[in-house]
Amino acid sequence: MSLLEIQNLSKTYPGAEGKPVQAVSDVSLSVEPGEVVGIVGESGCGKSTLGRSLLRLIQPSGGRILFEGKDITDLSRHQLKTFRRDMQIVFQDPFGSLNPRHTVGTIISEPLKVHGIGTREKQKARVDELLSIVGLPEDAASRYPHKFSGGQRQRIAIARALALEPKLLVADEAVSALDVSIQSQIINLIADLQKRLSLAILFISHDLSVIRHVSDRIAVMYLGRIVEIGPAEEIMNAPKHPYTQALISAIPRPNVPRAERVVLKGELPDPSDPPTGCAFHARCPKVMEICKTKRPELIKRATGGGQRETACHLYEAA
Ligand code: SF4
Repeated sequence: MSLLEIQNLSKTYPGAEGKPVQAVSDVSLSVEPGEVVGIVGESGCGKSTLGRSLLRLIQPSGGRILFEGKDITDLSRHQLKTFRRDMQIVFQDPFGSLNPRHTVGTIISEPLKVHGIGTREKQKARVDELLSIVGLPEDAASRYPHKFSGGQRQRIAIARALALEPKLLVADEAVSALDVSIQSQIINLIADLQKRLSLAILFISHDLSVIRHVSDRIAVMYLGRIVEIGPAEEIMNAPKHPYTQALISAIPRPNVPRAERVVLKGELPDPSDPPTGCAFHARCPKVMEICKTKRPELIKRATGGGQRETACHLYEAA
């Protein structure tokens, strides 16, 4: 049984002039215990909406979410409380996600208090333990968030997310707001914690060079849909979908001249007015006539690796 199984999930928002905005369309995905699944795509592709929908921080418009086999799609707030212990999130903004009026100790122990776990002494001991796990000094507990750098604040947010010993952590652009040098420290910390605690992680980022370091599998999203998914090594070494190829090509590599890189032209289409056929067709260097009218399904390809799925007409006959 998968730890998390998302079946045909969709999320639609009411848009301007009554046009619905389809942020997530028909996404199916599973996460196994202890597995790290990277979700990558440009800003606005629906990856954060997907992450928040599966945690029920926003209510999906359609589809099902199963956690350890139990359908949590329509559980009430009260019923969800038990599951919240097992599913935690770290947000992008380490400055906005911590209450500036609370000490770090209060912030990290809050989930324990909400769930009525442990005595005061035990909660304090757990805070000390969590601070040590994320590499912060014990005296951090008595200080306020503004005394810490961006990277240290993200460590505090991670400590809070780990307080209840979750089985699944959603890291939503968790390093995007940090300096590049600090990014690698936090990525290494998350990778280390994943191994030590056997955490399953859904690692959401617009940056494939970040995702590749931590993921067992990678799902590439474009305009609300998964267009390619498979083992991280296969996706990085032999991408099939032209959009994945362009994302990989954009990662600066010293031995590849800039002129040889695939440059993505144009911008992500308006989700309230999606293109017909393949949503990527106006930007795709390999576009064919069929791409303009028929949307390719995400299916297993004989040309791909064991678990590779790609939504592209190029592989239709393969
Ligand atoms: Fe390009 Fe066509 Fe494949 Fe879409 S279906 S990615 S337009 S080749």
